[in-house]
Amino acid sequence: MNSNIYRTIILFSFLSFILIFSPDLFAQKKNNKFTIVIHGGAGYISKDIPEQLKQNYLNSLTEALNIGKDILANGGTSIDAVEKVINYFENNILFNSGKGAVFTSEGKHELDASIMQGKDLSSGAITGVTIIKHPISLARLVMEKTDYILFAGKGADDLGIQLGVDIVPNSYFHDSTNYQKWINTQLPKQKGETVGCVALDQFGNITAGTSTGGRQNKTPGRVGDSPIIGAGTYADNNTCGVSATGIGELFIKNTVAFNISALMEYKGYTLNQACDEMIYKKLPADSGGIIALDKDGNYEMPFNTFSMMRGVANSSGLFKVDISK
Ligand code: ASP
Repeated sequence: MNSNIYRTIILFSFLSFILIFSPDLFAQKKNNKFTIVIHGGAGYISKDIPEQLKQNYLNSLTEALNIGKDILANGGTSIDAVEKVINYFENNILFNSGKGAVFTSEGKHELDASIMQGKDLSSGAITGVTIIKHPISLARLVMEKTDYILFAGKGADDLGIQLGVDIVPNSYFHDSTNYQKWINTQLPKQKGETVGCVALDQFGNITAGTSTGGRQNKTPGRVGDSPIIGAGTYADNNTCGVSATGIGELFIKNTVAFNISALMEYKGYTLNQACDEMIYKKLPADSGGIIALDKDGNYEMPFNTFSMMRGVANSSGLFKVDISK
């Protein structure tokens, strides 16, 4: 008798422990639906871009989108999808994040990233890191492992070392003749190809993330919108998730990502109306664009620049990438 009681108590404690510490294990799949949107930056990709370079961009966007789509299709979480998609971009020299980060006016690299979860409005961000190979992964750890939201400069680099993320010398980001050539000759007006991803998983959770080297030739210490929650990144399961790209100062000034969510929450706008309001009415022309999705899987990818690299996939078989209008 006694041993039965003990057994019941132990079983009950074990189940309570699992429920408290691993609630995701028991999270119900809401449905089999998912949506994912990605961007590889807004800018000035010309119509006359060499065919091979265009193909390289389209192939890279396709690979990135496939990584996220597969995670979501297999029942993975939106935060894993967002992190892994952005990790892919951070390894790809064609994009202004991680390895391909642009140069400061001193010829160095300072990287920014942020990530936010719509289920509880938790977020993590880092700015001005110089030795972190995957800024988005450190932003995620800031969210998951610290009591804070935003780390800057040396403190952020040191946190990365302490938390055991991949560390590289700042020269790692210099790579490349290729990248320099690309900046100097092929896309003289480009303003950087920041990357971002927003995903809605089968549990109904939205995550948004953004990673960038900032603006080309920026003054050291300059911080853009990408690591600022509410400006370059925002997510709320009740409204939408947003990741922005463009002239960060304008996105901070207009609190773009949060305002899209706020227009939906406070004014009853649809995602489409809220995005149009911010991108085409509030922001001046040529300032940038966003990718966004709402809790029902509707998506928007508006931009007011000449081009924006982007892609979308969902559980109904939609899969599309593009770089220009
Ligand atoms: N928004 C980024 C920044 O201002 C740059 C970009 O998206 O191209 O740092």
